[in-house]
Amino acid sequence: MARRKFIAGNWKQNMLLSEAAALAEGLLPLLKDAPGVDIAVCPTFLALATVKEKIKGSNISLGAQNACSVLADSKLTQSGAYTGEVSPAMLKDAGCEWVILGHSERRQYFGETDAKVNAKTRACYDVGLKPIVCVGELLEERDLGITAAVIDIQVRTCFAGLPADKVKETVIAYEPVWAIGTGRTATPQQAQEVHAQIRALLTQLFGKDVAEAVRIQYGGSMKPQNAKELLSQPDIDGGLIGGAALKAKDFADIINAAK
Ligand code: PEP
Repeated sequence: MARRKFIAGNWKQNMLLSEAAALAEGLLPLLKDAPGVDIAVCPTFLALATVKEKIKGSNISLGAQNACSVLADSKLTQSGAYTGEVSPAMLKDAGCEWVILGHSERRQYFGETDAKVNAKTRACYDVGLKPIVCVGELLEERDLGITAAVIDIQVRTCFAGLPADKVKETVIAYEPVWAIGTGRTATPQQAQEVHAQIRALLTQLFGKDVAEAVRIQYGGSMKPQNAKELLSQPDIDGGLIGGAALKAKDFADIINAAK
């Protein structure tokens, strides 16, 4: 089954409003001809409105980098007394189509767990926001030879009890933590091996139809120089791009490699 490639830029905690506006503006002419590739940019919450305005009517969609969901009285809440948080309903209202969940930096610095990612994913489904769910092993875990077991637990827990028809539209980003922002990329073979494992697990959990439809991005120092080889692997359906998404030309070159 042919899956459309999907390249998303994770701008992280970068770009003042003027810089975000300039980057979005710079992307427009470079990306206007990208047949067969879905494109999203994920600025900070504060820059969502600015970037939304800039990409209006273009082939670039908007995403956020996190969403809050709190279980109160066994219900997922989309509003209420949760100071400093932004719910999936609010992101949807702000024009987001996508939201990154469970990024390794949120796991490392903000205590995000697979169980939280599961609740957040469900809350996103409730309002029609599509999650990009990140999984990936630490360097120690790879060195111990337990990558497959780590990924297995992450995928099982993040997607536990979720409806197959929604999972089908969800994107998974395989991001080996040792490759994020380090300049060290997984080889295409290392990445393909884990992507194929994730798809096999999705087949077991949700059936072949869902597993064949889910797009699995690779993330971890993807750049113009290595994108083509990574993206030509059978189970690599796109990229979640950090550093290289902050330069319009590099981001566009990665998208060209996906075409
Ligand atoms: C990321 O933050 O998701 C990422 C992959 O970062 P980088 O491309 O900089 O490694």
